[in-house]
Amino acid sequence: MAEHESLEFGKADFVLLDNVSLEEFMANLKHRFEKGRIYTYIGEVVVSVNPYRAMNIYGRDTIEQYKGRELYERPPHLFAIADAAYKAMKRRNKDTCIVISGESGAGKTEASKYIMQYIAAITNPNQRAEVERVKNMLLKSNCVLEAFGNAKTNRNDNSSRFGKYMDINFDFKGDPIGGHINNYLLEKSRVIFQQEGERSFHSFYQVSVRACAHVHVFAQISVCVCVCVCVCVCSCINDGADFKAVADAMKVIGFTGDEIQTVYKILATILHLGNLTFGVDGDITLIENSKVVSVIGDLLSTKEDNVEKALLYRTVATGRDVIDKQHTVQEASYGRDALAKAMYERLFCWIVGRINDIIEVKNYDARVHGKNTVIGVLDIYGFEIFQNNSFEQFCINYCNEKLQQLFIQLVLKQEQEEYQREGIPWKHIDYFNNQIIVDLVEQQHKGIFSVLDEACMNVGKVTDEVFLQGLNGKLAKHAHYTSRKLSPTDKSLEFDRDFRIKHYAGDVVYSVVGFIDKNKDTLFQDFKRLLYNSSNPVLKGMWPEGKLSITEVTKRPLTAATLFKNSMISLVENLACKEPYYVRCIKPNDVKSPLLFEQERCRHQVEYLGLLENVRVRRAGFAYRQTYPRFLQRYKMISEFTWPNHDLPSDKDAVRRLLQGCGFDHDVAYGKTKVFIRTPRTLFSLEEQRAEM
Ligand code: ATP
Ligand code: MG
Repeated sequence: MAEHESLEFGKADFVLLDNVSLEEFMANLKHRFEKGRIYTYIGEVVVSVNPYRAMNIYGRDTIEQYKGRELYERPPHLFAIADAAYKAMKRRNKDTCIVISGESGAGKTEASKYIMQYIAAITNPNQRAEVERVKNMLLKSNCVLEAFGNAKTNRNDNSSRFGKYMDINFDFKGDPIGGHINNYLLEKSRVIFQQEGERSFHSFYQVSVRACAHVHVFAQISVCVCVCVCVCVCSCINDGADFKAVADAMKVIGFTGDEIQTVYKILATILHLGNLTFGVDGDITLIENSKVVSVIGDLLSTKEDNVEKALLYRTVATGRDVIDKQHTVQEASYGRDALAKAMYERLFCWIVGRINDIIEVKNYDARVHGKNTVIGVLDIYGFEIFQNNSFEQFCINYCNEKLQQLFIQLVLKQEQEEYQREGIPWKHIDYFNNQIIVDLVEQQHKGIFSVLDEACMNVGKVTDEVFLQGLNGKLAKHAHYTSRKLSPTDKSLEFDRDFRIKHYAGDVVYSVVGFIDKNKDTLFQDFKRLLYNSSNPVLKGMWPEGKLSITEVTKRPLTAATLFKNSMISLVENLACKEPYYVRCIKPNDVKSPLLFEQERCRHQVEYLGLLENVRVRRAGFAYRQTYPRFLQRYKMISEFTWPNHDLPSDKDAVRRLLQGCGFDHDVAYGKTKVFIRTPRTLFSLEEQRAEM
């Protein structure tokens, strides 16, 4: 239980609830939210409710209060978790990670930034210049990644449209010496299409506002700005100021002038592609606004003719011959959109790669300096159930299944290991194991991803319906899969379009429309060659595969599903070998109100985050544990044997004597270094006695 916090704020740790029921859990969560206590523990897990207002709890003074303290000595806070992860790393030489989950707008990214700020604030007491430089770059990288990877959505004005895992490396002194970022599945379809009320990635507006201000530099862009992006002005986003902040951050991180210019040129190219339209003249496909093509040619440092050719023709190898095949208007439009998406995605990955080049640990010799340890921070999309769920939601929800699986394994494993370390017998705990759903998606040959890849490999007519038929054939008997064909009476599912997965977090209906296309993720080789042949070396460097001529391209690129699956598997492997800390974020309402706690909405999140189960797991073991000296420090005044000091051979004996004296001996276990208390009642009673002293 978190001390130094009055009970008027409710229970600071859910394991202290009188009864573990959803009702009590929700009542405590709501009560605390209304009292301005946005953090609550479940053991070492932080549950956080988005306050939707500035809180005065992240300043220097608060940091000082948490620095070096044990988790339970202060009210629940992100800083306590960050400190625990840091201490475990420093004291025990362990790699640790902080996994932040929750749905869009729940506060994951904000939490990850506070955690990084905390770590930055408590390290490098000697102000070593090199360490300060690294810290500064790690913090600045957030600003750049948010500009290119975040967008305004209907759920969140600054929604991360990619998953992010960041390692921070520390030297033997515990100071940050570098880092590495992994990014996952950028929602690139946003480049060409946004729902009503939403925007494309922030970077486009930033560069556009800038272009309007500096017409002489980007005269051409201002034309298209008005067409493509001025549709949604958001009062809470200051694109002009952000442009400057991002440009400064890129400079600080170490992007060269040429690189930064190229970034802007790519953004401008994509904006112009959005203005490009195709038409027909007889049986010839043509570009209707050819002036745009010449602008794009300039921006890409390539000949206008080459741009036009890549947009209108496709080079195909037929036997030994190579011919140029003209696109239909539809094919050309498809190619244009694919090019815009691919250029943006490649740009984003390139930016991450450049940041990694610069922040990666260099010249660290473990033989001289000892082990270089790591704290990883994962800020990744939460479970999504929309009106219309497609390939992207499928991938995101699979990712959440993987993380849930890891959570179950690690939380249980961690408990088990602590009991072993302390020499206390372990009792088996029942929980829903979602491995069956993970398998349904990722298993070789019969999982959904495999069926999808198989469908994509078919020659001849490959359609989304063929994919659905494949699923129905392979998964007819699976308890977590169904479709209209398999449940003909279920009117909520459309024939030839929908399938439903029973996820651990709830049922989701997916529409197969677009699965094949998004999985193949085709970009015509002609575009790759076009970009590779640019005389701008930065752009050329982003497209190495454009080097191959049509007759050399033999290997089929990996599908989007396979790439995503592989990246998730390696993410989970990486997290599994670290000591995990969890932040579970909850979004209290859909209107960004600091006052509203929507009961139903929150209840749903508590359920699918498995928080109640988490409390049970924690309580099935011991609700509370504390080292002997600290326990005595807090409670020694309630027993004549321990006050003011004890004369027993050890602190452990003293604690035993104290608890026997109170009649609580039956409810506790004595580990090697810690006392474990099974029920919260006992702890309350101790607290009450203490208060009466
Ligand atoms: P997404 O999955 O869409 O990226 P997210 O979980 O990362 O969502 P954030 O961007 O972190 O959500 O938070 C959304 C908004 O909520 C923030 O822009 C901010 O206005 C508010 N917010 C979140 N956490 C806090 C906090 N601790 N204090 C004050 N406001 C907060
Ligand atoms: Mg986010």
